Formats: sequence, structure tokens, C-alpha cells
Amino acid sequence: MPKRYDTIIVGASFAGLAVASRLRGRVLLIDKDEIGEGQTSACGTLLGVPQRLGLMESVLQAQDALVFHLQDRTEVMDARDHPFCTFDYGRFCRDFANRLNVEILRAGAQRLDGDSVVTDQGIFAGTCIVDASGWRAVLARTLRPDYADRRRMSYGIEAEAPRGGDSLCFWYDPSLVPSGVQWFFPSGSNVRVGVASYAGDAHLRGHLNLFTESLGVARGRIHGGYFPAGLREPVVGNLFVVGDAAGQCLPFTGEGIRPALYFGQACGDIVQALVDGRLSLEQGLLRYRRFVSRHRWMYRVMALSQLALLRLPVALSSRLIGLICREPLRSRILPGYVRFADPCTLIPLPPVVRQTANRPLVLAASEA
Ligand SMILES: Cc1cc2nc3c(=O)[nH]c(=O)nc-3n(C[C@H](O)[C@H](O)[C@H](O)COP(=O)(O)OP(=O)(O)OC[C@H]3O[C@@H](n4cnc5c(N)ncnc54)[C@H](O)[C@@H]3O)c2cc1C
Repeated sequence: MPKRYDTIIVGASFAGLAVASRLRGRVLLIDKDEIGEGQTSACGTLLGVPQRLGLMESVLQAQDALVFHLQDRTEVMDARDHPFCTFDYGRFCRDFANRLNVEILRAGAQRLDGDSVVTDQGIFAGTCIVDASGWRAVLARTLRPDYADRRRMSYGIEAEAPRGGDSLCFWYDPSLVPSGVQWFFPSGSNVRVGVASYAGDAHLRGHLNLFTESLGVARGRIHGGYFPAGLREPVVGNLFVVGDAAGQCLPFTGEGIRPALYFGQACGDIVQALVDGRLSLEQGLLRYRRFVSRHRWMYRVMALSQLALLRLPVALSSRLIGLICREPLRSRILPGYVRFADPCTLIPLPPVVRQTANRPLVLAASEA
């Protein structure tokens, strides 16, 4: 008989941790890696996110301007009213996990089998199951093999290098990267330098090499991968799907951390209501689907912006970016963008429930 839990969550990055933060009872959080390993992203987000969650010790640097290097000009967006930051992925996830009261198991989930998750460390049954496994959506794909369609994904890679800086910088110049962007995110004593293709082109190493050489930075280890550019169905069968697994990363800006946390906590609240018997499974699934649907408009706006960037003549798209950076548009568009998945709506984490040297308690497979 598989061991039974109220809730099983696969994936212990932003989305999975956020779901877990809203749960009580018997909760199993599964990840194939140690918590805080396996960084894929540049970890740039609104400063309000770690502030609100109480994870400020993970912050490496705050930035109050966004700089856009375009083919024929450079534009600067003042973000002092909505500052951004870069943070340490490992520290953020470990500190987050230390505030959770759940069992954590290091195991690779392989598939869903009825109400059970089959992993390389055994089979676990759950009343509610959440897929937060990132763009591959490992559980949802076992129910719907075409669920994670790579044609609706972007691809990006980045490297970290020793170098300082002040602002989050982006480059948009199709002569440098066709259908893509480049970025330079200062993170304390290092900088994260990356390249992404909206067309999902996974052959970006050459572009990254040229970019790091042009900046004169020594390239470190490379990480990255796909990130979705379109919402997917957030409910598949009886499965809740959240974060990149549900395509909740925003098109155009590729911002996926804030949505993963926002939808993750909302999903967690609904799952808890279901576990408490305040909602039936059907009601819970329907409520989550409706909650995500209410945000569909933002994904449409961002997808259209991405399309416009790629289709419009470069001179025109550069002009539009310039207009958005300057008043009066800036003080309408930036707050509007921030209001989506607003950090103020995140629910602060409880105080530390467990503390180990550098990682939370992880169950040995035999104990789980
Ligand atoms: C190069 C790059 C740069 C980016 N930069 C930013 C940025 O600066 N800011 C921003 O907001 N967004 C950024 N993004 C997007 C952001 O990384 C994602 O949207 C975000 O990580 C989504 O969080 P998630 O928890 O849904 O998925 P993930 O962070 O992908 O986490 C999925 C988790 O599931 C686990 N997992 C996967 N398969 C299994 C399995 N079979 N069994 C068990 N566990 C499994 C993984 O180990 C991982 O811990 C970037 C993406 C890329 C590729």
C-alpha cells in the first residue's frame, strides 16, 4: 500500500514552495534535486516579493532603474517607485522551505497513477496532487501527452560572472539575437548575463559567448532552459497544475517567479479548503481554474506585446519602448504591470519552523 498524504506536491521551487506555504496536515513535497539546487533563472523580481514573504536575506542587490539598449538608442525606465532586486536562488528556496511544516522527499517523479505519484523512491498516494514541476509538467503530461507544447515556449541560458553594476539591463537588437533579447542583471559582486529566444531556439551558446566577450566578462557555469509563453489549462483531470508547469510565466518579460508564487499560494488555499472538507474536489478544481482564468487578459496583453516586438520594424518597436520608458506612459504602465500578481497580495510566511545548517529536513526515502 502506498503511504497516503492529504496533499502531494511535485516540484519544490517557487510554485511548489508557495503551494506548500498555505497547507497544513500531511503534506509531501517532492523534488528530484536538493532544495535550492538547480537554478534556471536570473532571479530578478520586484523587491516587494522577498520583502513581503520575509526572505530579505536572500536579496543580493536592489535596482531602481531598467535600462534598454536598443539598436539606435538607450532608454532608461525609472523604477524607484517599484524597485526590483536580484536574489540568491539557493538561499531563497532554503529559507522558504525552513518556514514550512511539510515532509520533503528527494525523489524523481515519473508519472501519475490514479491518485498516486510514482517516483524512483516509491509510490505515494494523495487526496490532492499538485504538479509544480516546471515547464516539463511531468505529471500533467502523463494524463495529456501534448500538454507541454514546446512551440509555445521561449528558451534562455545565462552565466554568472564577477562584475558589478547598478541597473537591470536588457538588449533588444535582432542583429545580435534573432527573435530574442539579452540581459545583464547585477547581483552583488557578480552579474548574470543571459540570452533568450522567443522562438524557442535552444542553440544560444554562440550568442552567449559573443555577448559575454562584448561585455568583457569571464563566463561561468551556464544554466537555463525553456520558459512557457502561454497559459496552459491549470487543471488536468483531478490534478492542480501551477507555475511554469501551467504556463504561468508571463510572455514578453519572461517573468515567472512572481506568478508562480502568486498562483501557488492561491492554489494552496484552495487545496487546503478541499482537505478541510469545505470544498469538494470538483469545487476546488473549478475554483482554481476560474481564479487562473480571471488573469488570462494579462497573458493576452503580454503575448501581443511579444508578437509586436518581433513583427514590428525595429525602429518602430524601439520608439515604442522609448515611449513606455518615459512619462506620461511610464507611470501608467509600470504600476499596471506590477498590479498583476501584486507582491502586496502574497501572504507572509510563518516564522521559522525548522532550521538546519544549510538545508531543510529531508526525509530519507525509507522514512517517507
Ligand atoms: C534563463 C532564464 C532566466 C529567467 N530569469 C527570470 C527572472 O529573472 N525573473 C523571473 O521572474 N523569471 C525568470 N525566468 C522564469 C522563471 O525561472 C520560471 O518562470 C520559474 O522558475 C517558474 O517556477 P516554477 O516553480 O514553476 O518552476 P521551476 O523553477 O522550473 O521548478 C520546478 C521544480 O520541479 C522540480 N522537478 C522537475 N521535474 C521533476 C521530477 N520529475 N520529479 C521531481 N521534481 C521535479 C525541479 O527540480 C524544480 O525544483 C527565467 C527563466 C530562464 C530559463
